[in-house]
Amino acid sequence: MNLPESINPRRDTRLDSYVDSYAQRTHGLTVSAVRALFSVANRPEVVSLAGGMPNITDLPRAALGAAMDRLITERGIQAMQYGSGQGEPFMREHIVEVMAEEGIQAHPDDIVITCGSQQALDLVTRTFCDPGDVVLAEAPSYVGAIGTFRAYQVQIVQIAMDDQGIVPQALREAMISLRALGKRVKFLYTIPNFQNPTGVTQTLERRREILAVAAETGLLVVEDNPYGLLTLEEAPIPALRSMEAERVIYLGSFSKTFAPGFRVGWVLAPHGVREKLTLAQEAATLSPPVFSQFAIATYLEQFDWRAQIDVFREMYRTRRDAMLHGLAEHMPAETTWTNPRGGFFVWVTLPEGLDSQAMLPRAVTARVAYVPGTAFFADGLGSRNMRLSYCFPTPERIIEGTRRLGEVLHSERELNETFGIGTTAMRYLDSSSSPAPDIS
Ligand code: PMP
Repeated sequence: MNLPESINPRRDTRLDSYVDSYAQRTHGLTVSAVRALFSVANRPEVVSLAGGMPNITDLPRAALGAAMDRLITERGIQAMQYGSGQGEPFMREHIVEVMAEEGIQAHPDDIVITCGSQQALDLVTRTFCDPGDVVLAEAPSYVGAIGTFRAYQVQIVQIAMDDQGIVPQALREAMISLRALGKRVKFLYTIPNFQNPTGVTQTLERRREILAVAAETGLLVVEDNPYGLLTLEEAPIPALRSMEAERVIYLGSFSKTFAPGFRVGWVLAPHGVREKLTLAQEAATLSPPVFSQFAIATYLEQFDWRAQIDVFREMYRTRRDAMLHGLAEHMPAETTWTNPRGGFFVWVTLPEGLDSQAMLPRAVTARVAYVPGTAFFADGLGSRNMRLSYCFPTPERIIEGTRRLGEVLHSERELNETFGIGTTAMRYLDSSSSPAPDIS
């Protein structure tokens, strides 16, 4: 059929014929400068300390398979049907029980099921934010949240943190100056436990102070807590939501405590917000995946999920210890790193003059990969930082990875000493459109 040229994209000679048609909000979505390297980093000879994939090899797969078999034969008619936009009532009841582990008392009616907590972030942002609104987040913060905020043309203001979490005075000052500028600050996004990317946990005292600043300034708090139950030391610190129900929207997920492939997360929100989120969920998906909810409920009912979390904890503890040991052994002087008490990540600060993004190609050539710190800032900061994850490789590979990384850092320092500080920054990496890396 001969279409007029104006509506026939195939006749257009530009690389992307729809370039003039995309919504404004897509303009903030950019290709990561490190994507090209990650396709190389996924090769088996490279020790990847970059990915944030949960390590699910210890799950009892044969028994799970049998349970899923029974689920389809015995309850498949319901489990494979459309469901409630808010999520299945039995799933929400189970979630109340899971959240009680972290001191949260909630009613199933106040929960909305989502496709992972990533979709929870999307629903919350689309419910609250117009273009130009401000969201506050930790500096640094989760790369996937930064991506969501950008997709809704939100201005991200990152607040200083230290080894106890967000600095309350910095939060207070940011609120005062943003308000003075007439900005609409919609919420604070925070990951209080074993933060992605730093591994830092907010102390109980900090949590109280942050909630006090929020109350003082009328700030809503979005608490993202996918790692909370993966504590490797003491019992979990009470969630912000357990201390303040009306001002906190809580995001949870089964991705780290069970398996991410089911894509089941949730939002626990004050009543009015929950109504809006349910409408947003219906508009987005009609209903969150019903089969996944049946599958997870089956797991929670028929397996000892608390004992399984203990198995995960032991496995991650060994890996965390291997990484801390490897770093102590192999990092050059003046390198510092955080000491995570749970979760997946260690945040490294390099000696002055080293640039983690510029250095990445050499690290990959030396067969070790990490995520440069710049990925976790909205404004290009973080070039002296890197995120290392210990969740996936074996302890031996983790130690070997830190050894390789140590060698790269030592040789980068020598180059700097020979040719002057900043030499490494000149070997800047070009981007390309290879598949998206797993830097979640
Ligand atoms: N929040 C944080 C802090 C994360 O690290 C991740 C995934 N790595 C998510 C949310 C999204 O997880 P999911 O959608 O699998 O629940």
